Amino acid sequence: MGTGTAALGKKSGKKTHIYCRRCGQRTYHATKKKCASCGFGVKAKQRTYTWQKK
Ligand SMILES: [Zn+2]
Repeated sequence: MGTGTAALGKKSGKKTHIYCRRCGQRTYHATKKKCASCGFGVKAKQRTYTWQKK
């Protein structure tokens, strides 16, 4: 089975990503409770790394 018409039945009403409260992008993972973009959710802290250049 590819991703043709037959695959449509696999679609559930669940959304994977919802709108993030912090960055406003639709990247907040509803199940994992974490935003893929800014990292919001697990800790109420901006996603930052020591090796990351600002
Ligand atoms: Zn976010």
